[in-house]
Amino acid sequence: MTTRLAIVVPCYNEEEVLPETNRRLLALLTRMQSAGLVSSDSAVHYVDDGSRDRTWALIEELAAADGRVHGIKLSRNRGHQAALLSGLLTVEGDALVSIDADLQDDVNVIETMVQKFAEGAEVVYGVRDSRATDTPFKRNTALAYYGLMRKMGVDLVHNHADFRLMGRRAIEALREYGEVNMFLRGIVPLIGYRAATVKYDRAERFAGVSKYPLRKMLTFALEGVTSFSVVPLRLITLLGFLVSVFSFFMILFVIYGTLVMKAVVPGWASSVVPIYFLGGIQLLAMGVIGEYVAKIYLETKQRPRYFIEKTV
Ligand code: UDP
Ligand code: MG
Repeated sequence: MTTRLAIVVPCYNEEEVLPETNRRLLALLTRMQSAGLVSSDSAVHYVDDGSRDRTWALIEELAAADGRVHGIKLSRNRGHQAALLSGLLTVEGDALVSIDADLQDDVNVIETMVQKFAEGAEVVYGVRDSRATDTPFKRNTALAYYGLMRKMGVDLVHNHADFRLMGRRAIEALREYGEVNMFLRGIVPLIGYRAATVKYDRAERFAGVSKYPLRKMLTFALEGVTSFSVVPLRLITLLGFLVSVFSFFMILFVIYGTLVMKAVVPGWASSVVPIYFLGGIQLLAMGVIGEYVAKIYLETKQRPRYFIEKTV
């Protein structure tokens, strides 16, 4: 029995790249279908994440032109992760591949992914060989971030974004995660099953601009930390401990100064400095705790993650 492949592509204002993306994906499907690698009902599913340009109209046109093209239109913009999730949890298929619309990921790698799936891997991660085409800023911040996450005990696949294949079993496992704010690349390794990786060179965005400005990148990074790690909370405890020790020695110093040295402590520095110091640390600590409280607040509401307006 050949694999029924479904390719899920989240699209937010991607009218400039979509025709080319579709051309390449369909060419790939045709090639794989005639090689007997995937079944004839394999398909490409575009998820329109509330685009404000002609993206949805284009998806409708592409779907009308080829029976293997389908579209899911979300009710509004919900972000990359939610868009991806809506596709993964909705479409049919034995193996689901998620890939960005902008052609930064090499579509031909999908063929290798399907081969690895046929060989028994339930999850196949696309891993960037080089980040030569990313800006040095993006490259370095990403590198630092992966390192930081690892130190905090979060199991991320290095240099892997959301280009991956997931088998039906992994998808059904993913469905069990009820988190409203999904950080997919953190969740998927938690699912387990046999995994494999495929390396590829990441290209430049084919057209259009990045939909991840710095602000969104920071939110996304923070999301990853607070969703998966309580290390920042522990660091606060450690910090509190260290400050207490420091204060203890300061008390000793003051006693020594008054009793032995008989020096009149001017008093200003020793009372004002700790006030500022502790004030700062307390605010910082409250901020970190606040991040987690905010997370609890957002998650307990159990708000729906997306609404599908229509499909083609
Ligand atoms: N995307 C989305 N919703 C958003 C932002 C982005 O569906 O709110 C899609 C976008 O169309 C693309 C993918 O997510 O297919 C990755 O976005 P982008 O390439 O802009 O991010 P970058 O590669 O710059 O990190
Ligand atoms: Mg991109």
